Amino acid sequence: MTQINAIAIDGPAGSGKSTIARAVGEKLGFLYIDTGAMYRAVTLKAKRLGIDLEDEEKMGKVARSCALEFDATGTRIFLDGEEVSEEIRTPRITSITRYAARALPVRAELVRRQQEMAAARPAIMEGRDITTVVLKDAKWRFFLTASAEERAARRFKEMRGMGHEVEYSKLLAEIRERDESDNAVGPMQAAQEIARNGGGITLVDTTGLSIQDVIDKIISCVNVG
Ligand code: C5P
Repeated sequence: MTQINAIAIDGPAGSGKSTIARAVGEKLGFLYIDTGAMYRAVTLKAKRLGIDLEDEEKMGKVARSCALEFDATGTRIFLDGEEVSEEIRTPRITSITRYAARALPVRAELVRRQQEMAAARPAIMEGRDITTVVLKDAKWRFFLTASAEERAARRFKEMRGMGHEVEYSKLLAEIRERDESDNAVGPMQAAQEIARNGGGITLVDTTGLSIQDVIDKIISCVNVG
């Protein structure tokens, strides 16, 4: 098996994947790709077009019609030429992205595009199906975990820090709801199982660790040579 010069990271909502992957990518010179942003952007376009989100074929058509581009840092995303980085992260879009995620024609299209991006240059990609589907042959694969309570507490701190009035119990309920819909799609649970059984995906339990601790841990595992 030929291994791809890439870093694959999976994990549930709020596990810190984006922040960590972005920082590791910057440090090692790997292109950072946030695949969640792609599912969110397809959802935004479908919503704007008034498409029935439960119609998987129509959702697939929307996915195939989207021009999706990232800036060089991978933090800004452009949908059909328009920057939508903030709009795709509103609670409304967050709560309905599960329809795009469970539509197989959408997954097929986005997986194909993600594999193309990673073939062009060394990449660090994060999502739910990266270690088991998109980059299952990546040289380095990680699964990040933290308890739902810890993930909700982190989000609570972050939101309060930004001046938003939020309730911890509401955030915890949201995190649990997203875990449930992400687990229903399949690949995420498979990745966690493989990591737990020592099958080539490194399990990183981030509970009690700082973001910097996790970044250091991942970098120490990656021998770019
Ligand atoms: O990572 P983020 O929270 O932005 O992902 C948003 C949603 O997109 C996830 O809750 C999941 O439903 C979906 N997703 C996915 N496969 C990926 C990345 C994200 O199904 N590789």
